[in-house]
Amino acid sequence: MVARFLANSALADTAAAWARDFRLLAPVREGQAVVYRAWAKDMHPFLGRPPTCSAKEALLPQTENLLTYTYRKDQADLTRTEVFVAEPLPPEPTLLLGARPCDARGRKLLDRVFLERGVEDPLYAAKRRNTLFVTVACERMENTCFCHWTGGGPTSEEGSDVLLFAVGADGGGYVAKALTPEGERLLDKLPEASRAAQEELAAKLASPPSQAVPGPAPDLSAAPERFLKLFGNMDFWMDESARCLSCGVCTYLCPACSCFNITDENSGMKGKRLRTWDTCMSALYTLEGSGHNPRVSRAHRLRNRVGHKFCYHPQEFPKDAGAQPEFSCTGCGRCIKSCPVSVDIRRVVLDLMEKGDAS
Ligand code: SF4
Ligand code: SF4
Repeated sequence: MVARFLANSALADTAAAWARDFRLLAPVREGQAVVYRAWAKDMHPFLGRPPTCSAKEALLPQTENLLTYTYRKDQADLTRTEVFVAEPLPPEPTLLLGARPCDARGRKLLDRVFLERGVEDPLYAAKRRNTLFVTVACERMENTCFCHWTGGGPTSEEGSDVLLFAVGADGGGYVAKALTPEGERLLDKLPEASRAAQEELAAKLASPPSQAVPGPAPDLSAAPERFLKLFGNMDFWMDESARCLSCGVCTYLCPACSCFNITDENSGMKGKRLRTWDTCMSALYTLEGSGHNPRVSRAHRLRNRVGHKFCYHPQEFPKDAGAQPEFSCTGCGRCIKSCPVSVDIRRVVLDLMEKGDAS
């Protein structure tokens, strides 16, 4: 495929052209945060650092209308009430600009949950078929990133339709590489990347700066067994979770966390059924109607979150013997960066690798 060039000076116009064919979500700066917003005139996409929130909102919105319903009394027989149900309109074709490779890999993990467990989630499936990702390769990893621990990397192509590589040649911009036929169609109006831009990119990829990847990745292939060895060691989990506030930020920002709740909002004789993000880090998540709570402490809840990502998921979706397990974590580091008390999932995983080996 021909490599194209997206000049910095052409970014806003190119995004505006895409917005004519798609519901375009693009990252913009709001205070200290970088958040995805629906395209609006005079918007300036900001691709300079990974967005604060993950890209999962394009496929699994924070709040989503599953259906609306209306009750109507049968005027000929007032003992009868009919219910009319309306499904939401099909999702618009959507283009998400500015995700990072860890987010694009998160799509595969969401697919596992919503498409590959025997029952397809129709709303998710419709969005998935209709959504393209134009992803920005990372020039260097932040000190909270660890995508290379979990099978990815700053230039991973998995899950993207287009990957943009920043270069300084030709006034600055991105060498754009199409990874799918849909991605190729998106780029067909962009000029071909110059030889200088392609050579600059090739040189960067051949010898990335030493700080681009912080340290070698540990071998986590035994993580599922080590976790099971420590499952009943509540002293270990109480130590690891001692600071946790149960705020749930880690799960809300995670590109791979997929838990949701479903509630009905009534207003008189009509209402809507909503799906909203939920968090396993909340005490209410597993509270049963009887008052019993099987995950009664923060230690139980952190154990579940780490166990799901590094044990239950790889057990449910096993890889061939000798291959790196698939974890339900892309190593994006958002849970570390935004945790108000700096609970670091890397530390928890390294501790369980070490202490699970000794136990
Ligand atoms: S973000 Fe930190 S404090 Fe909040 S629930 Fe997650 S681990 Fe606990
Ligand atoms: S667990 Fe943390 S590092 Fe892993 S994908 Fe979720 S937010 Fe990112």
